[in-house]
Amino acid sequence: MKRALTERVLGFRSPLIGLWITLRQVFQRPVTVQYPHETLKIPARFRGHIELVRDPATGKAICFACKSCEKACPSDCISVEGMKFEGEKRKSVTEFKLDFTKCSLCGSCVEACKSNAIRFSRAYNLAATSKEEFILDLFQRLEAEARANPPVGAVVREPEPVKVEAVKTEAK
Ligand code: SF4
Ligand code: SF4
Repeated sequence: MKRALTERVLGFRSPLIGLWITLRQVFQRPVTVQYPHETLKIPARFRGHIELVRDPATGKAICFACKSCEKACPSDCISVEGMKFEGEKRKSVTEFKLDFTKCSLCGSCVEACKSNAIRFSRAYNLAATSKEEFILDLFQRLEAEARANPPVGAVVREPEPVKVEAVKTEAK
C-alpha cells in the first residue's frame, strides 16, 4: 500500500517538472525568428558564393580576365573569358561562370585576385530545383545590376545583340 502511494506521488512529479520547464520558457526571450518575415544579422565573416566587384566610378566589373582565380581554384569551378575592346589598354571580362555545386568556399580565388575584383557575397538563402541553376553567370548578374543601378554619370555598355541564324529545313 505504501509503495503504491509512493509510486503515484512520483508519477505526478515528472509532468510537474515538464510543466515547470515549459512555463519558464514562456517568459524567456525567443532565440528563433519568423523567417522569411524576419532574418538574422549575417556575421561579418560570412561567406556566400563569390561575386564580381563593380568599379564605383564606371559601374563595370573591375575584373580584366587575367584568369588567376580560375587557375587558383582547386575545384575547377571558375571559367573566365575576356576581350580587349577598341581604345582600351587591357582586357575586360566578358564571361565569368561559377559552378557553385563544386565550390567549397575555400577562398583561394579571392586571395589570388590581386585587383580585389571578386569577393564573397552575402547570399545565404539559395534554393533551386536543379543543379544547373547553381551554375552562376556572375558577369551577366553584374551587368544586370549595373543597368538597374548605374553610377551617376557612367556610360553603361548595352549587351551585344544576339545573332540568330536561320536554319534551313528541307521540304519533305
Ligand atoms: S577576378 Fe581577379 S583574378 Fe579572376 S580573372 Fe578577374 S582580375 Fe583576374
Ligand atoms: S571559393 Fe574556392 S572552391 Fe570556390 S570558386 Fe573560389 S577557389 Fe574555387
